[in-house]
Amino acid sequence: MTSPTSAEPAPDTDCEPAADSALFDKIVNLCKRRGIVFGSAEIYGGFRSAYDYGPIGAQLLRNVKDAWWRSMVQMRSDVVGLDASILGPPQVWEASGHLTNFSDPLVDCTSCKTRHREDQLDDPDQCPNCGERGTFTEARAFNLMFRTQAGPVEGAGAEVYLRPETAQGMFVNFKNILETSRKRPPFGIAQVGKSFRNEITPGNFVFRTREFEQMELEFFVPPAEAQQWYEFWLADRYQWYVDLGIPATHLRLRPHDADELSHYSSGTSDVEFLFPWGWGELEGVANRGDYDLRQHASHSGQKLEYFDQASGDRYVPHVIEPAAGATRALMAFLLAAYREETVNDDLRTVLGLHPRLAPYKVAVLPLSRKEPLGALAGEVLAMCQPHWMCDYDETQAIGRRYRRQDEIGTPLCVTVDFESIDDRCVTVRDRDTMAQDRVPIASLVDHLASRLDL
Ligand code: ATP
Repeated sequence: MTSPTSAEPAPDTDCEPAADSALFDKIVNLCKRRGIVFGSAEIYGGFRSAYDYGPIGAQLLRNVKDAWWRSMVQMRSDVVGLDASILGPPQVWEASGHLTNFSDPLVDCTSCKTRHREDQLDDPDQCPNCGERGTFTEARAFNLMFRTQAGPVEGAGAEVYLRPETAQGMFVNFKNILETSRKRPPFGIAQVGKSFRNEITPGNFVFRTREFEQMELEFFVPPAEAQQWYEFWLADRYQWYVDLGIPATHLRLRPHDADELSHYSSGTSDVEFLFPWGWGELEGVANRGDYDLRQHASHSGQKLEYFDQASGDRYVPHVIEPAAGATRALMAFLLAAYREETVNDDLRTVLGLHPRLAPYKVAVLPLSRKEPLGALAGEVLAMCQPHWMCDYDETQAIGRRYRRQDEIGTPLCVTVDFESIDDRCVTVRDRDTMAQDRVPIASLVDHLASRLDL
């Protein structure tokens, strides 16, 4: 999470390098044109606060989440996974503090009737929509949780909430996991999944939506080790974005000021990305102390602690929480990867995505639709498909097909031409250098594997 009380930092626009607002429009346009992200329910005029991920976007989003899971769960022996329910009873949210505290300050402009988050206004006295001054109502706390009812009968006992973060799933399952996984602190529970917040001002494309995906880790540690693990996760999470291709010029760690910190947190820093409108949060890393386990222990009446048989110590572990947004990260990866180049007087648009994130790793392109090229290309595709997501495209001139693959970030294209029938070789073309290599079909899979380096 998410301290229920934390406020969004004001975007810092006085930063270097300069924010590029044209880039934002290019990305939104590319997403629509190439089936990455669509506005939700567009045939009914759209639904502002939600988006649908098309064929390319669904794969990209899956790759972002897989890259996180790989780094946080697969590559570590001290982290286990969880997939908890989205619907939860009020008791969970009462204990976590969300029912009382998970709110943003809402103000209405009495002149143009628009609504704003008071803590996000550049000038707290001027409406950013109509420009009028002194037209805001008193701020009131607006709870961001979506409430609904379970079952057909309304009333007490039927009230449920859509989770506004995945984190509480880890706290309420702490005892289950401790008893079944044989893990002991320091250890973590990781989860990826949908969260829902009734945001007052959704916007900036998928940066802030009412339905979004999170990737969160709750790392439980002996109290004396909390600071060292906080520092570890800060550095680790920053590096994750760098390793996946976000340039350090567009990434920073921003420690929260004392007045931003929730009362139980002894340290929180955000990993921020330089979005076209300024710096914005990608992920929060918080030292949450023992707040969450103690709250759930006192509300549930269950013991949520760790007993170390070797030392005889009994303690409530402290929690370090790196909490990231998958959909927000996807947007940052797209923005960071986008580039335009002029090649032979032609504009080439490239998504220089890290191969691990690229929706398709390989595209198989027969030079012509004529047989027997199609059959041979089908054979090549069948060799590659068990290993990677592959695209297959046999329409238009080959140069245009390369450009289409560049635009969605496919690292390698495999072209099957008429000579391939005789020499059983294909051309492998590189997205970034555009270099072409002739490779025997017999060793193609090994060749591609070494080039992709996943
Ligand atoms: P913000 O200040 O931007 O509202 P937050 O500090 O409330 O975010 P957290 O509760 O720390 O965010 O959630 C962890 C991560 O989940 C955020 O860093 C962000 O990447 C993602 N996230 C939070 N709210 C949204 C949203 N409405 N839309 C998309 N992603 C979100």
